[in-house]
Amino acid sequence: MSDTALSAVTLEARFANQLEELAVPWRAEDVPRPELLALNEPLAAELGLDPDFLRSPDGLRLLTGNAVPPGATPVAQAYSGHQFGWYSPRLGDGRALLLGELRHADGGLRDLHLKGSGRTPFARGGDGRAVVGPMLREYVVSEAMHALGIPTTRSLAVVGTGRAVQRETVLPGALLARIAGSHVRVGTFQFARAGGDVELVRRLADYAIQRHYPDVAGAENPYLAMFQAVISAQAALVARWMLVGFVHGVMNTDNMAISGETIDYGPCAFMEAFNPAAVYSSIDEAGRYAYRNQPVVAEWNLARLAESMLPLLHEDEQKAVDLAVESLGGFQRQYSAAWSAGLNAKLGLREETNDADASPLTDDLLALIQESPVDFTSFFRNLGKAARGEAEPARRMVLDLTAFDAWTERWLALGPDAELMDSVNPAYIPRNHLVEEALAAATEGDLKPFAELLAVVTDPFNERPGLERYAEGAPGDFGPYRTFCGT
Ligand code: AMP
Ligand code: MG
Repeated sequence: MSDTALSAVTLEARFANQLEELAVPWRAEDVPRPELLALNEPLAAELGLDPDFLRSPDGLRLLTGNAVPPGATPVAQAYSGHQFGWYSPRLGDGRALLLGELRHADGGLRDLHLKGSGRTPFARGGDGRAVVGPMLREYVVSEAMHALGIPTTRSLAVVGTGRAVQRETVLPGALLARIAGSHVRVGTFQFARAGGDVELVRRLADYAIQRHYPDVAGAENPYLAMFQAVISAQAALVARWMLVGFVHGVMNTDNMAISGETIDYGPCAFMEAFNPAAVYSSIDEAGRYAYRNQPVVAEWNLARLAESMLPLLHEDEQKAVDLAVESLGGFQRQYSAAWSAGLNAKLGLREETNDADASPLTDDLLALIQESPVDFTSFFRNLGKAARGEAEPARRMVLDLTAFDAWTERWLALGPDAELMDSVNPAYIPRNHLVEEALAAATEGDLKPFAELLAVVTDPFNERPGLERYAEGAPGDFGPYRTFCGT
């Protein structure tokens, strides 16, 4: 019966078959005592996977890569990457596997990918494993991002392995089953290009076009059009991060997806006090990936993509460079437009608002909230109340009341739309202290705080009574917050 269920799962092997040079067929490490810690039932349903099957012993074998349906070819994917600016020619899935592609209810394909599934030929010194805390962290943050409407990989399940994993201390092992538009990264293009086989780069680009940008296939120069589509997707994505105060933390080129989805949640964090220089990752000492640097870094990463794609852009190298540079010039423009439009929406200013009115208003507000500084998320949420005539919750957050009152008068004169504000300014984000609290409990075997936090942050715009604790900033004795890559 359950055997039938496993064979009923259709897992394609398109990446494995079409891009063999970038895919090492591999098997997941044996997980003798799997325990389901989190299962995303709505997502499972969208993927045509029966949640009851996924809970069954065979379902758990699938979620740990210990059994795959006939025809599936799990692979470790090869990629390179610039890590903090330094090029590593050979990164790849050191502890991850692409099990294959599933058909989503929307008609598109999705990767089913495991993280923590054991050592692969790309493991270098790593143990190939992952632990409960960071995998549940990726689960809750990625699902919160999705609920915020931000393109992201999704989390299907976290399965405890029953293994003790050595980190700074001994921690319980776990695996994350992740769903993505694809796992093609800027670093995948870098790896293909570094091998010197232009036809491989072309096949990779064709694959990316087919998966993510089918509309560009008919363009006069499809590869240039694809590059431009990736620029647009990343400009839009990073603007969305900035508008909710998300700091990715490790924007290496191997952690940037061609699909335009947020990928590889490691030392990420949501900013609380508004601070353009905010950085949380313990290893990002120079602040390369600080909040305010994210747009510039995205553009830098896209330049690395351009280098990898140059031979596809034009046969004449100088012309190819010119095309790439001209296209890259569009990033800043598109990013700024997305950021301004998003900020206007956060202030309830309708699209028809004159930019000459809106722009100084938003600039002045950002200066005001940086100076105080205020909690980014709750301040904007409280401004929605101010648009309804209740200025006090926002007002009492700032230091310079005279400046706030003057600003508010100018803003209210533009007739802000409170409903629009509440639809873009979340009441709930995965606050760092609550995430840590939930993960600490989960590591000790208590999953209740995790489940509660997940329920709150996956319905972020709907403010509910009784959840005040989730809307508040960290207590004074929490922090400064540091996140770690040692996941
Ligand atoms: P990340 O920081 O998660 O983006 O990973 C960077 C690189 O290190 C990738 O090639 C990962 O596959 C690899 N890696 C991270 N942790 C481990 C581990 N525990 N075992 C093997 N490889 C790892
Ligand atoms: Mg990564």
